[in-house]
Amino acid sequence: MDSSFSIQGKIAIVTGAGSGIGRGIAEVLANNGAKVVVVDIDETSAKRTVEQIRRAGNISSPIAADVSNWVDMQKVAAAVIKEYNRIDILCENAGIYPPAKIIEMSEEQWDKVIDVNLKGCFLGLKSCLPQMLKQNYGRVIMTSSITGYRTGEIGLSHYSASKAGIIGFMRSAALEVAKNNITINAIEPGTISTEGTRRFAAGELKPLEDRTPTGRLSTPEDIGNAVLFLASDLAPNITGQTIVVDGGYSIVE
Ligand code: NAP
Repeated sequence: MDSSFSIQGKIAIVTGAGSGIGRGIAEVLANNGAKVVVVDIDETSAKRTVEQIRRAGNISSPIAADVSNWVDMQKVAAAVIKEYNRIDILCENAGIYPPAKIIEMSEEQWDKVIDVNLKGCFLGLKSCLPQMLKQNYGRVIMTSSITGYRTGEIGLSHYSASKAGIIGFMRSAALEVAKNNITINAIEPGTISTEGTRRFAAGELKPLEDRTPTGRLSTPEDIGNAVLFLASDLAPNITGQTIVVDGGYSIVE
């Protein structure tokens, strides 16, 4: 069996890749030879990521879509199959984390976070699975979080539920397709400095960095590298698992 990090020529979809972690994942995959379809709810930021990837000499195309919308996600899968005839790697990364304490949280706020973060993973996977089953190959990597599955955070109960939910969904989904050469895994990032965290938690980043055993927050590229490993031919027999990328933050008592 060819064991290598190479994902040369593989067709990858990365959701929420208009900024932050998703953009980091898209760039790492593209720099390692994948053709990357950048999906984001915001067309302008999707195009910006694509331009950046192309400037580095790599192949990429943008699609504007809402991961919580079934019609949109069916269109994404259909467009990628039409253009590339395959879907090898699916990175389900789009997510939101608007803080709200339970006492103040509306039902709509709860539903929105669960819809984007958790249902979005179901819809993305459902839209791409028929093609992956047909080609008997697939690498699916979901962006969960240490928040929810390992740790808790005031104001993020809806987010925590969605991110812990992703792990449960991922494990059962992995079993359903384990015989079809399709692996499904998740990354659990600690806090990363991104557009999103700078918007909601700018003042908390430095104290979090100071409490991180390695002395620094992880970067979108760190997450991209973990995704690259799971997407590569070095990890064909790893499925239903998570990789924590948090500089050791979650192991401190
Ligand atoms: P970010 O900087 O806000 O980037 C997320 C991207 O997803 C944005 O471009 C956003 O577009 C897009 N998006 C939002 N809703 C969408 C939808 N319904 N459909 C498609 N795209 C959508 O966030 P991030 O910090 O990179 O986080 C990315 C993922 O990592 C999320 O799942 C998050 O939960 C997870 N994560 C982040 C951290 C962290 O510390 N940053 C830690 C653990 C896990 P708009 O900007 O237009 O909304």
